[in-house]
Amino acid sequence: MGASCELKTGDRVRIKDGGEAVVRKELGRGGQGIVYLVDYQGKPYALKWYFYDKLPHPADFRKNLENNIDDGAPENDHHFLWPKYITATGQYPTFGYLMDVAPSGYVDMDTIYIGFKWKKPAVKGQNAIKETYKFESLDAQVTAAINIVKAFRSLHLAGKSYQDLNGGGFFINTKTGEVLVCDCDNVAPDGENFGIGGFPGYMAPEIVRGVAKPDVLTDRYSLAVVLFRLFMRSDPLEGKNVLKSVVLTEGKELLHYGKSPIFIFDPNNDANRPVKGVHDNAIKLWNLYPSYIREAFTRSFTEGLMSPNKRIIEKRWQELLIRLRSDIIHCSCGKVTYSTLFNHEPHFVCRCRNCGSKIYTLQIKDLLAPLYPGLKLYRCYTENEDDFDTITGEVIENRNRKGMYGIKNLSKKVWKAKFPDNSIRDVAPGGGVPIWIGLQIDFGDGIGARILS
Ligand SMILES: [Zn+2]
Repeated sequence: MGASCELKTGDRVRIKDGGEAVVRKELGRGGQGIVYLVDYQGKPYALKWYFYDKLPHPADFRKNLENNIDDGAPENDHHFLWPKYITATGQYPTFGYLMDVAPSGYVDMDTIYIGFKWKKPAVKGQNAIKETYKFESLDAQVTAAINIVKAFRSLHLAGKSYQDLNGGGFFINTKTGEVLVCDCDNVAPDGENFGIGGFPGYMAPEIVRGVAKPDVLTDRYSLAVVLFRLFMRSDPLEGKNVLKSVVLTEGKELLHYGKSPIFIFDPNNDANRPVKGVHDNAIKLWNLYPSYIREAFTRSFTEGLMSPNKRIIEKRWQELLIRLRSDIIHCSCGKVTYSTLFNHEPHFVCRCRNCGSKIYTLQIKDLLAPLYPGLKLYRCYTENEDDFDTITGEVIENRNRKGMYGIKNLSKKVWKAKFPDNSIRDVAPGGGVPIWIGLQIDFGDGIGARILS
């Protein structure tokens, strides 16, 4: 597309469904095209306008885009900035599509990764302002990861793959952890591909080697990279090996990301460990996370590198991340950190390093949940349901006895509690049980839980 096909303020672009979008301003540009703010039918939209000659198969690409618009976003529709309208043919030599504008308060994941963004000064000649971006809480960070996984699970369940996962494809609210997946124009039915390969650093090794095209399995690899970068703020394959190649030429990139990639924390191969002074985030953050998270990443970037079927599926990530969120202990003294940074004495009793409070652990299915005030239990744990959203229990302070905590039944079912003296009592919805070592809860459906010592 020549410069003549760029749009300017006031230009009117016909939409296939009828009416015209009026260009307000340019919002940004990338390798594939330009994004403009437009008005259509009295509402603001973002128009992605393609560089026609950068599309390998423009006719197929357009047809796929039209199909995605007709299908609509996968079920968790609010997680996607999905294509909504396509421009009409015939008016310009290229085309584009309209999507909703990302609401304010969201920032792309790459910016969070770097940690700041330079903002243009209000007055010309003044210094640019460095704006910092980070998650406001550990909970928001883990919630963002859960939302990313949830979006990809629904996309894959709809029989489609994203094909171009990278940090620029997510807008995140750093306060709440809400996520919007954008750049959905490469989404295609699993097994189909319209020319996109992926993004360096996020592409599965088999794509880098040129022996596979993007699909659900390569999406799974990229998803593990996205999660690793989100939590460790570093690249899973960039250690001392990669550092030795001062300039990452195409050949070196093929070697380190395609032919013989080595995970920086590979337990059986220390050739590519992170380097102090260069990869400090990786060194500092890795051990902060509980072992099940480190194991999931280790599997993703050792066996999962070369065996696509060994990659962790979205449902498993969801389980692990819900568990991780419950492992962020909110102590009554105000200290908030992962349970790994509490003293464990005896094994299942955490003691706060700040105030000395004891926090007991509830074992339920394969979850070990530290019972701090505010801990929530979800339906996926207390019932045999694939429901990660509905809260069925919460640790709260006893209204009448300050300093005494219990688990409140927020489900619709009657639980049975077995007390240490072997007495059994019904726990009706709205009722609760005290946090006592040895206490057992029968949630029904054969699901039991126990407070460990
Ligand atoms: Zn404390």
